[in-house]
Amino acid sequence: MDYQAPQDLLRQKVILVTGAGAGIGRVAATTFARYGATVILLGRTTAKLEAVYDEIVAAGGPQPGIAPMDLAGASNDDMRQFAEVLANTYGRLDGLLHNAAQLGERIPVEHYDVSKWMTVMQVNFNAVFMLTRQLLPLLRQSAAASLVFTSSSVGANPKAYWGPYAVSKYAMEGLAKLLAEELENTSTVRVNILNPGATRTPMRATAYPNENPATVKPAASLMPLYLYLMGDASIGVNGQTLRCQLP
Ligand code: NDP
Repeated sequence: MDYQAPQDLLRQKVILVTGAGAGIGRVAATTFARYGATVILLGRTTAKLEAVYDEIVAAGGPQPGIAPMDLAGASNDDMRQFAEVLANTYGRLDGLLHNAAQLGERIPVEHYDVSKWMTVMQVNFNAVFMLTRQLLPLLRQSAAASLVFTSSSVGANPKAYWGPYAVSKYAMEGLAKLLAEELENTSTVRVNILNPGATRTPMRATAYPNENPATVKPAASLMPLYLYLMGDASIGVNGQTLRCQLP
């Protein structure tokens, strides 16, 4: 996408990014801040979130928030309390980028360890549902909120050996489509699915260990689409699946 975002696109917006400590989430968080957003950085490794915080502040961006949370173990109550803190601190949420995910193992279903399967489903799907559920009242407080679910090609078309990663993304796409319909006429919240396509990150390197990372596009090249979805230019776009094209 060759969308050119104005420099103040996200000024006054409060945006939560999950998995903000590394990979695409990190680049999205720093980019949103560069375009004026107050970004809440959620992730499981506090030191990584602090590094992103420092980077945003050093670049002169609005002071971010840090939300250490391991989505594998976080309960519905943890998320409710988190939503309360956000409500008391910011009063609303203008954007939510569901980005955190775990790849899990790429082996046949019949060999998959059940508890490892459950963990991937918890992080990639159940936590996404619970967080969305708890944050919807805050998203409704925004004049125009954008809820973005990060999927994958194997989410749209599950493929052999992709295990709970594919199944969780497939379920997440279902949740996103259902929510888009539910919220269409009852709120100003828009809901879309974003498939970044092959991108140079730690997850990609794990999934394709023999690939030369230099041949894969960097996360920065995705940002016009991420900005488009988070900014007001995408108001009215709802229930869509947007895919970043390979270079
Ligand atoms: P990375 O693995 O590089 O980064 C994922 C981020 O999520 C990390 O910051 C990680 O934290 C965080 N995270 C993982 N597990 C948890 C957890 N239990 N609780 C909280 N945070 C967690 O992934 P990518 O940047 O590659 O992927 C981002 C999104 O894009 C994912 O949804 C992925 O499925 C999707 N995607 C990526 C593609 C690619 O080619 N890269 C292709 C298609 C889709 P920590 O660093 O602390 O481990």
